[in-house]
Amino acid sequence: MTRVGVLAIQGDFLEHRLMIEGLGVDAPEVRLGRDLAGLDGLVIPGGESTTIVQLLDIFDMRNTVVGLVREGLPVWGTCAGMIVLADRLTDYRPEPLHLMDIEVSRNAFGSQVDSFEADLEVDGIGDAPFRGVFIRAPVVTTVGQGVEVLARLSDGRPVAVREKDMLATAFHPELTGDSRVHNLFLNIVRGCL
Ligand code: GLN
Repeated sequence: MTRVGVLAIQGDFLEHRLMIEGLGVDAPEVRLGRDLAGLDGLVIPGGESTTIVQLLDIFDMRNTVVGLVREGLPVWGTCAGMIVLADRLTDYRPEPLHLMDIEVSRNAFGSQVDSFEADLEVDGIGDAPFRGVFIRAPVVTTVGQGVEVLARLSDGRPVAVREKDMLATAFHPELTGDSRVHNLFLNIVRGCL
C-alpha cells in the first residue's frame, strides 16, 4: 500500500492524515527520524515554521529529510510547510531546508486577523475554482527556472508551485472538504512508484 507520511511534530497534521486516508492511502505520522523509512511521499503541514524547523533540528531529522527529498522522495508543504521547503526567505528566520528554488515571504498578508479565503484556479486539478484558505499565509516572491506556478492570487502573486516532485501551497487544502490538491500530490507520488 502507498504510504505518505505526514510530519507530525507541530501544526495541522491530523487534517492532512484524514484527507489522505480518505483517499485510500496510508498516512503514518512522522515524529522521529526512523518514521521516515519506507515512505513514498511526505507532507509538511501548516503550523509555525520556526517551531517545525526547530523541532526538525532538535530531533536530528533535517539531514535525513533533505537527503530523501534530494534522492527523489515527493514532498508537499502547505503554508508553514512551504516556508520550510523554500531555498530563501525574506525573513532572517527560520533556516529553511533549501529544497525548492523559491523565495518566500512569511506572514505576507499581515497578522492572524488578516487571514482570508479566495477562489483559485489551480493547474492540474480541473476547471472548478479551489477555495484557498489563507491563515497568516506566506507568498512566493521569486521562483527559479525549474519551478512551475500552479496558482496565483488575482494580483498575480504565486501561491501554489511545483518543482519536479516537490509541491508547495501557501493555503490549506486540508482545511477544506475538497481533496483535489491532495489527489494531485498523490498522483505525483504514484508517478514515482
Ligand atoms: N505564519 C506561519 C509561519 O510563518 C504559517 C501559518 C500557517 O501555517 N498557517 O510559519
